[in-house]
Amino acid sequence: MRRSSAKKLAKLPVPVLLAIIVIAIIAVAAQRFLTSETPPSVVDSAEFHFIDVGQGDAVLIRTPSGDVLIDAGKNSSEEALDAYLKAQGVKAIEYAIFTHPHEDHIGGADMVINNYDIKNVILPNCPSTTKTYTNMLSAISKKNVTTKEAHSGDKYRIGELVLNILGPVRNDYEEVNDHSIVILAEWGGTRVMLAGDAELEAENDILEKFGNSNINCNILKLGHHGSSSSSGEKWLKALDPDIGIICCGKDNEYGHPHSEIVERLSKHGIKSYRTDELGSLVFVSDGSTVSQKKD
Ligand SMILES: [Zn+2]
Repeated sequence: MRRSSAKKLAKLPVPVLLAIIVIAIIAVAAQRFLTSETPPSVVDSAEFHFIDVGQGDAVLIRTPSGDVLIDAGKNSSEEALDAYLKAQGVKAIEYAIFTHPHEDHIGGADMVINNYDIKNVILPNCPSTTKTYTNMLSAISKKNVTTKEAHSGDKYRIGELVLNILGPVRNDYEEVNDHSIVILAEWGGTRVMLAGDAELEAENDILEKFGNSNINCNILKLGHHGSSSSSGEKWLKALDPDIGIICCGKDNEYGHPHSEIVERLSKHGIKSYRTDELGSLVFVSDGSTVSQKKD
């Protein structure tokens, strides 16, 4: 900066100067969010487990620095989820994120909180009065687990894993599904988008807020079990994933995934994997490529 302009700045009243500094910091931070040009290199691999819990969601992310669980399936699949986590040798969970209060996402939450060493729970600001929800809250308070509210724009780190909280962008959605916590998980240069049950309105709000950032991903866990109320054309185009994961139950009563979504995935060149057809699915990332882990 030239001396004269430095002098001019120095003459500005302190509140104006402070405002300029704050705006500059926000501008730099906004630019940095999700736009790291050279992705950090990672030494180890991370695993993304899309656990077969029938018509519901449960996603486990395993890293050398700790495990993260996103949703816990239905009440009726508690035992299956418990068995899966035990078989994996999971004991502690750094973050248990319950995307929204529907039973097919938080049915097993009380079991997980009671049986595992949960360090933090993250919830949206979308309370409910159902028995399943109050069971979850009682387990949280009984075990005295730290609970955080999800805010769009937050970032959580577990070692080299970065969890970018994209949604919910607003807190006034009419549809509970739109309150879903939407997470873009980054491992080195690879990304997995976990869309909860977010529908078109929530997708569009995320695109409007983050669309100029780089939000493309390798894997998309489709919103709302492959329902046609989610996974809009614009969303798929912006995310441009190679792989689409559909978590749904065999012969479920909702007809998930809807045929137009299966067709839309194929039209966009996205390879789809369904838990109702294939059971639990595991993908491994070494920080630059993602591949399916088969045993
Ligand atoms: Zn659901």
